[in-house]
Amino acid sequence: MDYQALASLLFPHLKETREDYEKKYPKRELKEKAMVTRFAPSPTGFIHMGSLYASFISYIFAKQSGGVFYLRIEDTDQKREVENGIEQIISDLKKQDICFDEGPGIGGEYGPYIQSERKEIYHAFVYDLILKGYAYPAFETKEELEKMKEIQAKEKRRIGYYGSYAKGRKLSLEQIQQHLENHDPYVIRLKANGSFDQKFEFKDCIKGRIMLPSNDMDIVLLKQDGLPTYQFAHVVDDYLMGTTHVVRGDEWLSSTPIHLQLFRMLGVKPPKYAHIAPLTKKIENRVRKLSKRYDKECSMEYYQKEGIPTMAIKIYLATLFNASFEDYYLSNKDASISNFTFTFQKMGVGGSLFDLTKLLFLSKTYFSRLTAKQLYEELLPFYQENDPEFYQVLTKDPSYTISILNVERTGKKPRKDFATYQDIKKHTWYMYDEYYKQSTMERAPILDSYDLPLIKIYFEKVYCESDSKDVWYEKLKEFISQYDYAKTVKEYLQDPEQYHGHVGTVCEMIRVYLFCSLETPDIYELLQILTKKRILDRIVGIQKGKK
Ligand code: GLU
Repeated sequence: MDYQALASLLFPHLKETREDYEKKYPKRELKEKAMVTRFAPSPTGFIHMGSLYASFISYIFAKQSGGVFYLRIEDTDQKREVENGIEQIISDLKKQDICFDEGPGIGGEYGPYIQSERKEIYHAFVYDLILKGYAYPAFETKEELEKMKEIQAKEKRRIGYYGSYAKGRKLSLEQIQQHLENHDPYVIRLKANGSFDQKFEFKDCIKGRIMLPSNDMDIVLLKQDGLPTYQFAHVVDDYLMGTTHVVRGDEWLSSTPIHLQLFRMLGVKPPKYAHIAPLTKKIENRVRKLSKRYDKECSMEYYQKEGIPTMAIKIYLATLFNASFEDYYLSNKDASISNFTFTFQKMGVGGSLFDLTKLLFLSKTYFSRLTAKQLYEELLPFYQENDPEFYQVLTKDPSYTISILNVERTGKKPRKDFATYQDIKKHTWYMYDEYYKQSTMERAPILDSYDLPLIKIYFEKVYCESDSKDVWYEKLKEFISQYDYAKTVKEYLQDPEQYHGHVGTVCEMIRVYLFCSLETPDIYELLQILTKKRILDRIVGIQKGKK
């Protein structure tokens, strides 16, 4: 076969050659060991936890090695495309704080970063493979291919276009010319040089040594519409874009021999491949893949609605990525993702179990480490978007809100009851008069045994804003003991008949009257923020039957 004649016949109008593109996209100049990684989704819409995890890993490796992380949209299967898919992906990732150095809308020296805009580039590389005798056109119709598969199934053969089934291999230049003159649709196929009986060995960065049959399938490189398949396009792109590490889902593991064969045929060094197992979920005793369809925690929308901070998600993904990150994070107050060294070796081979409870636990730790001011600034965008009324209340007097957020924050064991932005309203609303007045005491009803006159006398006569916490507590105990309440629970338990209750009972009354809640953080701190005047206003309000 005259390959030059074949290549010219198939691509009579080729403007630029492989060499031209290699000149246009020279090798990246980066420091040694710098990793070039990419996130390469198909534009099928929203980002979900699985794809976020893969992009997070790629992002971290590029950042920690001083390399490049880019976004490439793999849209050559136009049947799968959804409207605004690209915009959606970019905006979802931005919300999760995953930033690209290069990509659609950002630019970069190695673009375009949308595969459908790179058609000529793929053609130049196919042309090159044809010249080398590694690719050829095939004209079978859909029906003929179906028929072939039927026969293979009947004869219990492997299904596919290979060996003696690869009819296109046998066409002469004249026959090809005839087909082209007839305008018969065709694809360009790889002339695979592997054999199914031979083992092909390669090293996966996560899974280690892998042995798979070497590839003998003449897979499609260019489809009838002239667009490449994923298999071919990603090889050309990863080569020209200088990718050093491909992190992708392990559904691609079995086709890696094809990809490595393609790199070899192009005569270039392949990137290293790292195949990650899917995230899984445990339901009772069963473990299954985390599902976009069935698991709310798989969609990023869930986190946005609940107000689970982006940083908490990242911290959790970092623990899935390298389990030792968790110890580092929990035992180190100043821990940060960028100061931890992630490696492929520290990654688990099996699928990581995605545990929402654990994520929320880490989120609590994350919240507990913020200063009140940082927390204030972080939660505003959430309320601005989701609860404008509470946003107004929060921002009316920023220093008041910050003082509320500061309750039990600065001590040795800061409070850990916030896992989401929503929790902040849940645990602080009663500090704002607008909400306190509207509340119906449903959450913590006033019991008949509560004693409003006692509480009123205490606040009018005894409570003093300038008392230290110890003095405040001593004075409170002293006061209640004059009204037959025990100073301690222990004292009370020794002779319950003799008392109406104990200091805990009185604190409960204060909580319910003033904060409509049985559980609050430190009462002393809350009372200080409320001020004596507003405490008395609240008590008078209850007395009058209106708050
Ligand atoms: N476009 C492929 C997908 O969405 C990407 C696989 C890869 O990262 O190479 O699954």
